[in-house]
Amino acid sequence: MILVTGGAGYIGSHTCVALLQAGYEVLVLDNFCNSKPESLQRVSVITGKSVVLVQGDVRDRSVLREVFKQYVIDGVIHFAGLKAVGESMEQPLRYYDNNVSGSVILAEVMAEFGINMLVFSSSATVYGDPASLPIREDFPLGATNPYGGSKLMVEQIYTDLAQSDGVWRIALLRYFNPVGAHLSGTIGEDPSGIPNNLMPYISQVAVGRREQLTVFGNDYPTVDGTGVRDYIHVMDLAEGHVKALAWLQNQVGVHVFNLGTGHGYSVLEMVKAFEFASGRPVKYQIAPRRAGDIAEVYADSLKAERELGWKAERDIKDMCRDTWNWQKQNPLGYVD
Ligand code: NAD
Ligand code: UDP
Repeated sequence: MILVTGGAGYIGSHTCVALLQAGYEVLVLDNFCNSKPESLQRVSVITGKSVVLVQGDVRDRSVLREVFKQYVIDGVIHFAGLKAVGESMEQPLRYYDNNVSGSVILAEVMAEFGINMLVFSSSATVYGDPASLPIREDFPLGATNPYGGSKLMVEQIYTDLAQSDGVWRIALLRYFNPVGAHLSGTIGEDPSGIPNNLMPYISQVAVGRREQLTVFGNDYPTVDGTGVRDYIHVMDLAEGHVKALAWLQNQVGVHVFNLGTGHGYSVLEMVKAFEFASGRPVKYQIAPRRAGDIAEVYADSLKAERELGWKAERDIKDMCRDTWNWQKQNPLGYVD
């Protein structure tokens, strides 16, 4: 059985589908600080299989011990964490506590129970502003905000841990920009409040929930002046976790992988692709750059392809079609 922390969230719920479809049993530990149990009910409908759900905090040793005592856990995928960059600058301690302390406590209790296989959600944000593109795993690292700092610290902590004891098998997965939804449109990204990220903002404009998109800057040195990112379909990302887990069975040590497509798209290219997929106009206005943003980011994911046998299969049309399918079926997200 695989323990999935934060498994009710956006990437976690899609990964639960991929795990169940690959034949794994799944236990989710989530405190629902940024998700609802409804997502997991829908995971069961999609797969025809149930997920064991434990409501609790990854920083709570007693809950973790209960889980490891009661169930035979073969490995852990650790999604639980806070992810809003702006909020992390206002509440750094909350971010370090949740993301760093949570990751330390999880590993401590895993060690107590002799569980040593771990997949961790890192982010392309650990590369800061890269000197060249595409970004390879061996590029220099640096954080520009507490969220990125927390990811970098956990990478370091898990690297030190794996070096201290050769029994550990750890994959650090650096995600580029996850978007899209399961093909069924029944699970997807459900941000609370005003979305920070581009894709959910665009889709809320298309569905009529927000008036217009604000494009942050059109004076970057990119194809059309707007920011370029490597958007990756969340089901491709989910399948990357399943591949990483299977691969770790025959490895020891710590291993880092970029999970991206290798292609960059600008904000305006995303707007156009979404208009095409949805048949709806996406009104936008140009505004100044957002503080901390960089011009262009895309991955070199050849290491994941070579070692894990994983490659993103879904393109920008699939990403927009599936986001729209989720958005139009669930205009207000998961409603109780
Ligand atoms: P999400 O907020 O949808 O999912 C995170 C889940 O973790 C939520 O269900 C939340 O309730 C839970 N959680 C948070 N803190 C917890 C705690 N202390 N104990 C138990 N549960 C807790 O976010 P997501 O987009 O699915 O991201 C998952 C992971 O991937 C995060 O670690 C995030 O930092 C990382 N990541 C996300 C992106 C992205 O753009 N979405 C990019 C790179 C990395
Ligand atoms: N962006 C934008 N308007 C928004 C949200 C994002 O123009 O409302 C731009 C942002 O400047 C960046 C790209 O879209 O160039 C992706 O931003 P997102 O926040 O989704 O991801 P990240 O910045 O973390 O890569």
